[in-house]
Amino acid sequence: MSKMKRIISLLFLPLLLMLVLSGCKGESVANENIAKRIKEEPTIIWGVKYDTRLFGMMDIKTRQVEGFDIDIAKAITKEILGEEGKAEFVEVTSKTRIPLLKNGNIDAIIATMTITEDRKKQVDFSDIYFDAGQSLLVKKGSPIKSVKDLTADDTVLAVKGSTSTINIRKHAPDAKILELENYAEAFTALQSGQGQAMTTDNAILLGMASENDNYELTGGTFTNEPYGIAINKGQDDFLEEVNQALHKMHDNGIYNKIFEKWFPKDAEGRAKKGAQF
Ligand code: GLU
Repeated sequence: MSKMKRIISLLFLPLLLMLVLSGCKGESVANENIAKRIKEEPTIIWGVKYDTRLFGMMDIKTRQVEGFDIDIAKAITKEILGEEGKAEFVEVTSKTRIPLLKNGNIDAIIATMTITEDRKKQVDFSDIYFDAGQSLLVKKGSPIKSVKDLTADDTVLAVKGSTSTINIRKHAPDAKILELENYAEAFTALQSGQGQAMTTDNAILLGMASENDNYELTGGTFTNEPYGIAINKGQDDFLEEVNQALHKMHDNGIYNKIFEKWFPKDAEGRAKKGAQF
């Protein structure tokens, strides 16, 4: 081979590889138009939690994932695709959800995810569909009554990739933080005494406290955590459909029905305040 030919083939090799790797479709999964695809094959793939009671929890007996996020995802799917529409669920953790979305493994994240300016640089968010706030979970009788009581002697358990880990450093700068992979691990760590408190959103902690009488929420909330559905950038049609579905569900009462199913105690207060989402 002449030197020139070798240079040309070296230049084209990466291009050829790229074409082969991206498959016959000629576009990567992350770049496909989701709004178009789901009209052809009526399935939306949702990234959800599998270990978070009240939002997304795998029931090992029925092998079904259940919770508020799951019901909202199913209802949005039906609003967009009609009765034959299928909602498929893939497990995400706080750490894996954005990478899985960006790689095209899932179409959307509905997984207790707070809308933040930082995350908006990477993904788009739907309108707010749930309001939470960060709080603390402690053993009953603990001297920790609020975030201000956390000292350098305390270890707080939090989950990697969550806003809770970032916020707790600001609100309890002296405390030690131990970051776990997911909420099941964090609660186990609290129960085995690896920390004096666990921190995340009040609604998530409520799910844990309701399952275990020895633990309670303390000190109220110290941040606002508005939840949104995350969708890849460049999927404006799909995002618009999700927002329209949310608004329709609010108008036709489906949203309230789902809310009351999972948060019966809060539903009354919400109704009185005239809360929208
Ligand atoms: N809402 C917070 C967040 O998005 C905490 C819950 C979670 O880790 O999913 O980070």
